[in-house]
Amino acid sequence: MSSSSDSFSSLTLNIGIVGFGTFGQFLAKTMIQQGHTISATSRTDYSQLCHQLGISFFRDVAAFVEADNDVILISTSILSLSKMLKSIPFRCLKRRTLFVDVLSVKEHPRDVLLQVLPEEMDLLCTHPMFGPESGKSGWEDLVLMYDKVRVRDEATCSSFLRIFERQGCRMMQMSCEEHDRLAARSQFLTHAIGRILSETGIESTSINTKSFETLVKLKESTTNDSFDLFSGLFIHNRFAKQELMNLEHAFQMVKKKLLQTANEEQIPNKSNHQMDSC
Ligand code: NAP
Repeated sequence: MSSSSDSFSSLTLNIGIVGFGTFGQFLAKTMIQQGHTISATSRTDYSQLCHQLGISFFRDVAAFVEADNDVILISTSILSLSKMLKSIPFRCLKRRTLFVDVLSVKEHPRDVLLQVLPEEMDLLCTHPMFGPESGKSGWEDLVLMYDKVRVRDEATCSSFLRIFERQGCRMMQMSCEEHDRLAARSQFLTHAIGRILSETGIESTSINTKSFETLVKLKESTTNDSFDLFSGLFIHNRFAKQELMNLEHAFQMVKKKLLQTANEEQIPNKSNHQMDSC
């Protein structure tokens, strides 16, 4: 770890990424631009891509863990977290390391990581509230939620957070519980509605209203994310089930009101009309 000369006087970090899929790659690009040294390990072999990006790729997890990382950043799918952590030989860690996760749910990784991490390792739980699509033109004003669950090495933690601050992110410190409560009402709901819209098969038409275009975009953006991510938002956020029930209830309420109004208007249903005239 060495001091850099940027205006934030932050530290240049060695960051090892576990899970080099879409989101891991997306974060790595900005971290490299800021001068941090990145290495990665993943289930899939990303050696060639990493070579192009100037990243060391480790097929062997033990060698990855033994490398001199200031930060180990976990960016695997929510569903694979527990299984993936079983494959990490924590005993090979040579010194205090800051573990950071970027999973879209927060209580689950906090609990699992607190169980498996050696006590001397620090833990920062984060959720960048954006992705490769919403963050493609920059991270200005996009939210980075974080919870310093167990941080003793403040310099490393603050240098890591500064990566997002330097990109103009809105830095939101809150508990993992509060995050999950809010995210169930916002992110999970958004993904659920996007998936429902996809099930209806909606497509752009020649007479789109602006609002309908928003719906088509919502369908596209949510289905671009993996189904693993969507199901993880449901399975590992204890507040999501209630939101799904609320959504179902709300649908029934809207349907009931429409049918009630139609009855009050006494608009004869075509099939009833045909039956009447028989
Ligand atoms: P994802 O489908 O949630 O996760 C893909 C990653 O998980 C890949 O690195 C993949 O490894 C790994 N993985 C999946 N199954 C695995 C298994 N059985 N064993 C080991 N590794 C496995 O898609 P993502 O968009 O890249 O998201 C990564 C994390 O970032 C997730 O936790 C997500 O909640 C979070 N996040 C995503 C976004 C976003 O916009 N995409 C935004 C904020 C946070 P391989 O590639 O090697 O197969």
